[in-house]
Amino acid sequence: MTGTADRVLVLGGGLAGVACARRLAEEDVAVTLVDRNDYHQFQPLLYQVASSQLPAVDVARPHRAIFREHDAVEVVTADVAEARLAERGLVLADGRTLSGSHVVVAAGARPNFFGIPGAAEHAFPLYSVADAERLRLHLQDLLRSPDEPGALDVVVVGGGPTGVETAGALAELMGVWDETGRVVRPGRITLVDRGDALLGEFSPKAHEYAARKLTEAGAEVRLGTGVAAVRPDRVELDDGGGIPARTVVWGGGELASSVARSAGPSPGRGGRLDVRADLGVDGYPGAYAVGDAANIPSGSGGGTWPQLGSVAQQSGKWAAENILRDLKGEPARPFRYKDKGIMAMIGRNAAVAEVGKRHHQVEGPVAFAAWLGVHMMLMSGVHSKTDAFVTWAWDYFDRDRTATIEASSAPQRIAWGDDEADRPHISLD
Ligand SMILES: Cc1cc2nc3c(=O)[nH]c(=O)nc-3n(C[C@H](O)[C@H](O)[C@H](O)COP(=O)(O)OP(=O)(O)OC[C@H]3O[C@@H](n4cnc5c(N)ncnc54)[C@H](O)[C@@H]3O)c2cc1C
Repeated sequence: MTGTADRVLVLGGGLAGVACARRLAEEDVAVTLVDRNDYHQFQPLLYQVASSQLPAVDVARPHRAIFREHDAVEVVTADVAEARLAERGLVLADGRTLSGSHVVVAAGARPNFFGIPGAAEHAFPLYSVADAERLRLHLQDLLRSPDEPGALDVVVVGGGPTGVETAGALAELMGVWDETGRVVRPGRITLVDRGDALLGEFSPKAHEYAARKLTEAGAEVRLGTGVAAVRPDRVELDDGGGIPARTVVWGGGELASSVARSAGPSPGRGGRLDVRADLGVDGYPGAYAVGDAANIPSGSGGGTWPQLGSVAQQSGKWAAENILRDLKGEPARPFRYKDKGIMAMIGRNAAVAEVGKRHHQVEGPVAFAAWLGVHMMLMSGVHSKTDAFVTWAWDYFDRDRTATIEASSAPQRIAWGDDEADRPHISLD
């Protein structure tokens, strides 16, 4: 067992965990960051990997490379079987235990299949680099199979940002496969949601924009219809109908990582840990929860901040600040979120964003610029060369899609220029 004297255990090396560890390391506080992967994964670009527009290695950065300049951070690549908040400890799957002066749960989320029969077995979630790579390989496999009618048809479940962005990217991919003569008939993309609008969190203008852009890209949008079951070759709908498809992408909702559920306190909504305004877990001194693993009070009417990259990054950093205050014997401060707005990129030349205090709606290049600014900031915690990302992103947004989407296995890369030794170990097991 490692010592506890002023060592912070951070469970999870996503946006929240990395921001927390980095801030603590800047003040030379010893940190042990534990993640089951040896790399950080940038979720907002997973659909680009799934649709063959970016290689998986471009959205995964090894934790050791991120913390190369920070000797105070020890990275442990291991599955955490249990978090024991009362003891500020972590039990690893190999039986090792770690304990610290503080523990920060930044374990993120996993898909919520809502108990729908066959969904966990047959649908493709999009939460990790491995998920995205599995979906890409599955589609490439279908592309190689003989031209059976409908073999490439895809159903995307969920009309939130993940479902909309994925449906847009896949519709674009099918268009390119069609234009370049790789398929006799491109797959049909159908997005299904039981609600009555796409991008439910956005304004009605954005709902219409998303539906129009998806339809223009060749996708079909079916609202007011829920999924009753997922079979290997079809989706059954709750109105008694069905859609034949060998590929079902799950963008239907999320639950906190299972480790959050057994950490000690009764889990709150979405299986997440309820935290106080200062991000501490009530009744568990020295324990914090941040990012997608936490219900973080927004201060208005009992609401909580949404599961967004900027909330994760800011809450991770804020928890670090409160730990630093604690180490100096100062009182913790309530989390103050700087709202960066909400946005979705629906494909080349199509983006929608709601920004500013009143969530003013913008579309097209202006929305894309807002998307780029926020994503650059998110990436800056993990990469020093964010200019490479900006170049890639403008190129993606602007250029003729056939020129940049590779139907083969060599999509255009972000010029990270990383050392070969920094390559993540992406396993699909
Ligand atoms: C497809 C998709 C697209 C998105 N697009 C956007 C977007 O455009 N803009 C935006 O702001 N937000 C977006 N989000 C949301 C955003 O990515 C998340 O809110 C954010 O990444 C959460 O960060 P986190 O650090 O809390 O969790 P994560 O980034 O999920 O990190 C959690 C880490 O914990 C590790 N972990 C979990 N359990 C264990 C365990 N038991 N043992 C060891 N390690 C463990 C995981 O491996 C992971 O590295 C998107 C999310 C998804 C899924």
